[in-house]
Amino acid sequence: MNYEMVIGLETHVELSTESKIFCSCGGHSAAKEPNDCVCPACSGMPGMLPVMNKKVVELAVTAGLMLNCEISRYTTFDKKNYYYPDLPCAYQITQFNHPICTNGCVTLKTSNGERDIHINRIHMEEDAGKLVHAGKASYIDNNRTSVPLIEVVTEPDFRNVEEVITYLNKLKTMLRSAGISECEEGAMRCDVNISVRPEGSTEFGIRSEIKNMASFEAIEKAIRYEVQRHMDAIEFETEELVQETRRYDDLSGKTFAMRNKETAADYRYFPDPNLMPIIIDDEWLKAIKAQMPVAIDEKSDAYREAGISDKEIDVLIHNHIASTLLDDVVALGCDAKNASGWILTDCAGILRKNGKLLNDLEVNAEDLAAIINMVVRGTINRMSGKKILSAVIEKGVDPVAYCKENALDAKVDTATIEKIMDTVLLENSKALEDYKNGKVQAKQAIFGACVRALKNTADIDIIRELLDKKLNNL
Ligand code: ADP
Ligand code: MG
Ligand code: ZN
Repeated sequence: MNYEMVIGLETHVELSTESKIFCSCGGHSAAKEPNDCVCPACSGMPGMLPVMNKKVVELAVTAGLMLNCEISRYTTFDKKNYYYPDLPCAYQITQFNHPICTNGCVTLKTSNGERDIHINRIHMEEDAGKLVHAGKASYIDNNRTSVPLIEVVTEPDFRNVEEVITYLNKLKTMLRSAGISECEEGAMRCDVNISVRPEGSTEFGIRSEIKNMASFEAIEKAIRYEVQRHMDAIEFETEELVQETRRYDDLSGKTFAMRNKETAADYRYFPDPNLMPIIIDDEWLKAIKAQMPVAIDEKSDAYREAGISDKEIDVLIHNHIASTLLDDVVALGCDAKNASGWILTDCAGILRKNGKLLNDLEVNAEDLAAIINMVVRGTINRMSGKKILSAVIEKGVDPVAYCKENALDAKVDTATIEKIMDTVLLENSKALEDYKNGKVQAKQAIFGACVRALKNTADIDIIRELLDKKLNNL
């Protein structure tokens, strides 16, 4: 008999907020040492009350809009009761009765054409802490306790592994492009619900839920293992399938039963009396919509049309900071392709030199546009532009003032400087010969001669950079 797999996903994503969901402790990724982002509220001290983080609502709504959901104008929190040492209150604040988003849909491009995956709901909740096991003892790290999550729950619409992975990649790209989550390792975790049924059947089979999967690769392997287990159970009666929660062991490549499936009743959900219902009125919804990035598909198309390479587009749609800066600089009149190079090559290079990543970029669009425009107009050459950009990124200077103060708008361009340098090299052929023969000190003499020849016309760092290039190319 032929079988069909049926899969539904519950994906938990940690949100990139400055603070936790119900207190002012630093949010995800703020912590450096265990328990250094913890306060009486998020460590469950009696009498502490939760205070809603508005940003969480806005990010959850943004995710809902991107996934074509209906946004609930009235949304509430519930307590989900269970005991585990990483849950200091012995309940998790989550949404059960009135989740923030419902009834969405996302279209996937797969090798079998387009496929619609329906989103059942998105809800907001707090994460649990972490248990750290060391020998016979276990420690509790509450840094992650109360970090905001959204959980995106799909209908059981997936029919093969490719669809699952395509969906997860698309979700990740979307969330990153909107600054909802960086989705780095461990910040995106899936519960994978799997059942199998005879092809043509309209009823669903008994499902198992594989908990807490962080890697796409492992998800793929776990699905293949689990589907085979189900098929064997149905076809050869190797075991009796029950609805249960399982875990996947990456070493053996197998899944193991953890517990029978809890039902909602086991959790004694009830409305959290400490949190008021949240009302999302037209005005607020409009403001959130106005902040939304353009859909990633449209955005990539627009970038491609502007002549930006596929490689750069890939970086841009995954990097909210870079793409926002690009969009802003373009809005100020710069050419998209040119500006993209300034951001992804020049800014990134300067940051790298300082041991930083593109995500650490803090340049305002006006400053970058000012530099780009000076270069485009020929007021300065590209190298001076780069030098000003470095100063802006590293020291936060004003680009135009810095340019004036350092006489970077001198009238000579790189080609002229190089021509003058060539003459200097000819005049100093002895020093040049020494340098070629390994006498490093000779370089200083050549450099000095260049500086004298170019006095008041070119910047010293630029002279050094061009000379280095020349000498390296000898
Ligand atoms: P629970 O909250 O108990 O985990 P839900 O009804 O919310 O249960 O479903 C959780 C997930 O399981 C959803 O993503 C849904 O699509 C998926 N699911 C439900 N039934 C099946 C099934 N028979 N096979 C595969 N997935 C299923
Ligand atoms: Mg579940
Ligand atoms: Zn706290």
